[in-house]
Amino acid sequence: MNAPLIAPAGAPAAAITQDVLTIPRKLPEGGKTNLVGLTRDQLREALVAAGTPEKQAKMRLGQLWQWVYHWGVRDFSAMTNLAKDYRALLAEHFTIELPEVVTRQISSDGTRKYLVRIAGGHEVEVVYIPEEGRGTLCVSSQVGCTLTCSFCHTGTQKLVRNLTAGEIVGQVMVARDDLGEWPVQGAPKDETRLISNIVLMGMGEPLYNFDNVRNAMKVVMDNEGIALGRRRITLSTSGIVPEIARTAQEIGCLLAVSFHATTDEVRDRLVPVNRKWNIATLLDALRDYPRLTNSERITFEYVMLDGVNDSKEDAHRLVELIRGIPAKINLIPFNEWPGAPYKRSSNNRIHAFADIIHNAGYASPIRTPRGEDIMAACGQLKSATERARKSRAAIAAEAGI
Ligand code: SAH
Ligand code: SF4
Repeated sequence: MNAPLIAPAGAPAAAITQDVLTIPRKLPEGGKTNLVGLTRDQLREALVAAGTPEKQAKMRLGQLWQWVYHWGVRDFSAMTNLAKDYRALLAEHFTIELPEVVTRQISSDGTRKYLVRIAGGHEVEVVYIPEEGRGTLCVSSQVGCTLTCSFCHTGTQKLVRNLTAGEIVGQVMVARDDLGEWPVQGAPKDETRLISNIVLMGMGEPLYNFDNVRNAMKVVMDNEGIALGRRRITLSTSGIVPEIARTAQEIGCLLAVSFHATTDEVRDRLVPVNRKWNIATLLDALRDYPRLTNSERITFEYVMLDGVNDSKEDAHRLVELIRGIPAKINLIPFNEWPGAPYKRSSNNRIHAFADIIHNAGYASPIRTPRGEDIMAACGQLKSATERARKSRAAIAAEAGI
C-alpha cells in the first residue's frame, strides 16, 4: 500500500497528485465466494454451507467478522485465533476482495478522489472529504444513473449496473486502507475517526438499488466491525417515494433529499423523476420519516442555479412547503462541468436565499465546494470509462432551455 499523500493546506494547484496505484488486479478465483458485503446472516449461512459445524457457526462468524471488519485483515492465514485447518477451509471457499483502486487524486484542499474498478471493468468514484474534526466518505451506489437530472454530470451517463453490497462496503474499506485507518493490534485504542461519516451521494440513485445499499450499510454499521452509527450515515435520494419509508424501517440512517425547486414545473425539468412523484407526494413521504427513525432533521439539498431556482420568491415558497418538517436546508452552489446547461448563482443570490430560510428558523448552510480542481465536487462524478455521453444539445433539450 502506498503511503498516504496529503497535500498541504493551501498548496497551489500544482500540488494535485494523480498516482496510478499498482495494486495487482485480483482475478476472481474459481468458485470462491467473496465474503465482503455479506450480512451476518448471509455469512453464517455461507460458513455452514462450506462445512462449518452448526454449533460453531456463531462463534466462527464472530471471529471472522472481527478480523475482516474490525482489523481489516485480508489473509485467512493471519487469523490466528482460528485453527489452522479451519483457516485452510476458509481459504478454500472464500476470498476477501475489494474493488481495485485505479487512480487516486488529491486536491489542493486535501479531498481525495479514488477511481475504483469493479467486476466487468466498470469504474466508480469515491470521494474522501477531510474537515475540521470529521471526515466524510462519499460513496457510489450505481455505475451511472437511470435518472437524468439536468444539472448532474452523472445523469449524462447511462446506468450500467447496480453495485453489489460488497462493492459498496468495498469502497469504505479501500478508503480505510488508503488512509491507514485500521486499528493496529496491541496499540492503544485510537478514537479519532478519519472516516467519521458516510454519505451515499456519489454516483447513482441509492433507492433504486435498495437491497444492496441496505445490506452494505448493515455491514458498515455493525458494532463489531467498522461500527459507524446510523446517524453517521446520510442517504441522499432524488425522491423515490415508495422506498422512503423502507429506508426508515430497514436502514434507519439520516435522509437527504435532492429538492432543488419549489414548483413542479421547475422540478420536472431539474429532477425529472418529479413527473412520477411530485413535490406534494414527496413531502407527504418526508413528513413521516423523522418519526419512523426517531431521528432529527431531514436535509433538503438545494442546488443554486443562476436564474432558475434562486429567487427570493423561491426561498419563501420553500419555507412554506417544508413547514412542519424538521429540516435543514443545504444550499449547494452549482458545480459546473463541461457542457453543463446552467451557471452557478452569484454569491449575493445564494446569501440572500440563505438569509430568508435562516430567518424562518431553519439552518441553511452553504456547502463549500470541495475538490473542485479534481472534479470531485458534488454532482461532478462520472466515470472515465463509461463514455456514453449525451450530446450538449440533448442535455439542453432535457433542461428545457
Ligand atoms: N442520486 C442521489 C445521490 C447522488 S447526487 C440524489 O440525487 O440525491 C448527490 C447530490 O449532488 C444531490 O443532491 C444532487 O442533486 C447534487 N448534485 C448533482 N449534480 C450537481 C452539481 N453539478 N452541482 C451541485 N450539486 C449537484
Ligand atoms: Fe442520478 Fe442523483 Fe445525478 Fe439525479 S442527481 S442524475 S438521481 S445521481
